[in-house]
Amino acid sequence: MTGGIIYTARAVHTLNPSRPSGRAIAVRDGRVLSVGTIEECSRWGIDHVDKRFERDVIVPGFVEAHSHLMEGQWGQVPYVGRFDRTMPDGSIASGVSSIPDFLERLRTLLAAPRDVPFFVASGFDPIYFEGERLNRHHLDSVSMSTPIFIFHASGHLATVNTAFLTKYDIRAGHPTPGVGFGSDGEPNGELRETVALALARDEFVHLGKVFASEQCITDFGQAARLAGVTTATDLASPFLFRPEHASVVADIVNTPNFPIRLACAPMMRSQGKSIEDQLEALKTSRVHESDKFKIPVVKMMLDGSIQGFTAMMSWPGYITGEGHSFLLQTPEETFDMVARLTAERIGVHCHCNGDIASELFIDAVEYALGKYSWFDHRHTITHAQTITHAQLRRARNLGIGCNFFSNHLWFWGDQHYDITLGPDRASQINPAASATRLGIPFTLHSDASVTPIGQLHTMWAAVNRRTVSGRILGENETISPSVALQATTLGAAYLLHLDHLIGSLEVGKFADMTVLADDPLTVAPDDIRAIDVRDTLVGGVITSERS
Ligand SMILES: [Zn+2]
Repeated sequence: MTGGIIYTARAVHTLNPSRPSGRAIAVRDGRVLSVGTIEECSRWGIDHVDKRFERDVIVPGFVEAHSHLMEGQWGQVPYVGRFDRTMPDGSIASGVSSIPDFLERLRTLLAAPRDVPFFVASGFDPIYFEGERLNRHHLDSVSMSTPIFIFHASGHLATVNTAFLTKYDIRAGHPTPGVGFGSDGEPNGELRETVALALARDEFVHLGKVFASEQCITDFGQAARLAGVTTATDLASPFLFRPEHASVVADIVNTPNFPIRLACAPMMRSQGKSIEDQLEALKTSRVHESDKFKIPVVKMMLDGSIQGFTAMMSWPGYITGEGHSFLLQTPEETFDMVARLTAERIGVHCHCNGDIASELFIDAVEYALGKYSWFDHRHTITHAQTITHAQLRRARNLGIGCNFFSNHLWFWGDQHYDITLGPDRASQINPAASATRLGIPFTLHSDASVTPIGQLHTMWAAVNRRTVSGRILGENETISPSVALQATTLGAAYLLHLDHLIGSLEVGKFADMTVLADDPLTVAPDDIRAIDVRDTLVGGVITSERS
């Protein structure tokens, strides 16, 4: 066994508790061979020393345990969100600052040529704007003839115009749950959650094509790479309903130029197919697994989003009195699904934004574990934004992990304080410090494309808990940079059942590294998100040289 390369660095943080740091890392056959001094690394007979990262800091490659391939959509779907955003080609799309600004942007976009007879844009969120909430009349001022479908940033809601409503014959009294109505009894143009969104047949066929396109998957890989991510997730893959899609994604991910590993969590649903048929499709999909393409867990979903007022919140509900929440599947369906998955030794990451949803999932795990013992299940509440302290203690007892949506603190923190949850519950959203105190395994995520992919930002948000207005949202829930780094590397890998392969720099594990221009453990905590990502290595290969 010969060959290999040694990289030197200002510091190598390994996240290996027995050997936490070094000045050099040796790589052979795509795996970590040694971390320590150059002299120690040289003992394996390697004389090729590469000093290009000498001034930089090497950490384990970032693992994003809740993202979606649709983060790669921006080359094909216009972005109309509130904040400036980096596009796949590196350009910046500026955010819209008001409803009139947004409508002006739409007019420009609609004037451009399209290859479909309707218009779709994404990334919008009405909660940022004062005055009347965006409705069909606003969109009618842009076009009365072209059906317009504005997909909100949360992915849980959309606003459409009258031409759209006419096209699908959606009128007063329409029976589909989630169709919004104005005080006049007519549809107001808002569609909430899956069933109502599914009314947009052509638009979703179009978006489905975009999300499944080679360009979207490739752009996703690039966006993740630029943010320092070496393993990302697609946390709601459609493989259980379209198993043939797994080979399409696997083929793209397995090409040498694709710069990240991808872990997919196929979506389990309570409608359309039996649990047994979905488990069968999972087996079929897993045939395509490789070192770069994994299907380690599945996804479930119980409620909506806080900013869309569709998260299932218990008393006292939303501060504005608003509330459109409903469970996306019944407790019985949830108990059956979690029990069946537990029996099959399949970990589940369950979307729970509201505390009612968290409670239901915890109940379901307790029921499942009563029936089938599995000590190492690592079932995870993903988002867990409003999980209560009582629920955290139950999660700890049951071995449930949390994947916190820390970016919410920045992107919606002020809105949670003022409009949705109120000061008390807003100050304890994504309670990472409490999870740390209880020893609950957790990670931090972007839910890209809901917010941009990037672990330096999710770390920064959990460490500082600062909102756009400058408020510190719950200083007792801030965590240290080292805890945040652990969460975004090994913590994520652990909850994905992949920590034997990735997440830390230890002998035998994949040599996946993120090279940073500065040290997230020693810079001022407020500067963490501004650290420059110099490069990434996946399996010891420098990705900027491959893509
Ligand atoms: Zn998501």
